[in-house]
Amino acid sequence: MNAPSKSAQTLKWQALSRDHHLAPFSDYKQLGENGPRIITKAEGVYLWDSEGHKILDGMAGLWCVAVGYGREELVQAASKQMRELPFYNTFFQTAHPPVLELAQAISELAPEGMNHVFFTGSGSEGNDTMLRLVRHYWALKGKPEKKVIIGRLNGYHGSTVAGASLGGMKAMHEQGDLPIPGIVHIAQPYWFGEGGDMTPEAFGIWAAEELEKKILEVGQDKVAAFIAEPIQGAGGVIVPPDSYWPKVREILAKYEILFVADEVICGFGRTGEWFGSDYYGNKPDLMTIAKGLTSGYIPMGGLIVSDEVFETVNAGGDFNHGFTYSGHPVAAAVGLENIRILREEKILEKVREETAPYLQKRLRELADHPLVGEVRGVGMLGAIELVKDKATRARFPGEVSAGMVCRGHCFENGLIMRAVGDTMIISPALVISKEEIDELVTKARLCLDLTARDILG
Ligand SMILES: *Cc1c(COP(=O)(O)O)cnc(C)c1O
Repeated sequence: MNAPSKSAQTLKWQALSRDHHLAPFSDYKQLGENGPRIITKAEGVYLWDSEGHKILDGMAGLWCVAVGYGREELVQAASKQMRELPFYNTFFQTAHPPVLELAQAISELAPEGMNHVFFTGSGSEGNDTMLRLVRHYWALKGKPEKKVIIGRLNGYHGSTVAGASLGGMKAMHEQGDLPIPGIVHIAQPYWFGEGGDMTPEAFGIWAAEELEKKILEVGQDKVAAFIAEPIQGAGGVIVPPDSYWPKVREILAKYEILFVADEVICGFGRTGEWFGSDYYGNKPDLMTIAKGLTSGYIPMGGLIVSDEVFETVNAGGDFNHGFTYSGHPVAAAVGLENIRILREEKILEKVREETAPYLQKRLRELADHPLVGEVRGVGMLGAIELVKDKATRARFPGEVSAGMVCRGHCFENGLIMRAVGDTMIISPALVISKEEIDELVTKARLCLDLTARDILG
């Protein structure tokens, strides 16, 4: 394929990228050679690049733009707050209206008994906060030896030292000497990739029992918490078998361990419920939030904690932890407005009753494609597994990256789907319409056809 010639302006920006910008999760040599696609504007569920191409954003930015691009109310909320009080900190016995009102609004949406919020600038910082708070909590309870946190292989909890350690991404652990001590990992409930000959139900039980095995191996008296995403996002939209969460709940009930739900992706409506924990009926003690909290218009994250965790920490004097931008007033004002939009426009109800069932039905039509081994999803999350052999779930050999080929075709044809290995994933804005879902599925099928042509010959 001949690459179409790029405009002088695009080439100029790409040179700036090569000469000055260190992009996250990027191969700099490759990025320097090809140049990044330059995104210049957005509206609704669409993006435009610097070459004028219109692209359907199947990932809502990075799982975050829940209410879609171009919402003027969020712009107004930010500019109004910037004029009134652009910054003040929440350290040293001060606060400001937006942070207090946002903490209350989140408490109203959170599961019962979770009424206290610590704000951060990102999801990673939320998980760093969790690690320190959870260990502090156990120390206050007279059990300072309860320090170990159990995460899951291929889980994602962010990119800071604690976040990357809590996560189970092999490629991240290989750099920077991670995980840090006191963090261990168990298997993920990824039936399609790792379930072998087991039924999904049996595999879900097996994966849950790995938690109990690990608790016993480390010792209950040393385990502080278990952290998990209700549905793994970055790992490949891994929806656990139905047997998994009930069994995990049963195990957690037997041991004195805190349960942390990383709701950074699932929170604020992605499953059609306010939190992924609501969707599964899980009862966490702490929940990490970010992404959909502000629809990505401005960075903000946080940690919601149960009344019991709060009471313990409340009795313990200073919590020596905080960020300059904890509860930033402009971010808080945007978060509040975002929640107002989600509520007043009944966006979750529409997702739950109309658009998510439609998306899931239309996506599953792709399961008949020769390249597709499984289509799965919940709410506004979906995954398409590309395989060499549908019956055995066998992958293509290492030298063929079906996912990368497919992702390239998507870009060329005006659709953003992300590839995690050979798993194509989507996470569109919650406001995507049925017509836009039709467009997404039509483009996805075209790109699967083009991928099949390339790799099957
Ligand atoms: C994105 C993500 C994070 C990290 O959030 P950042 O804002 O990128 O630091 C943590 N957990 C999950 C589940 C995520 O998807």
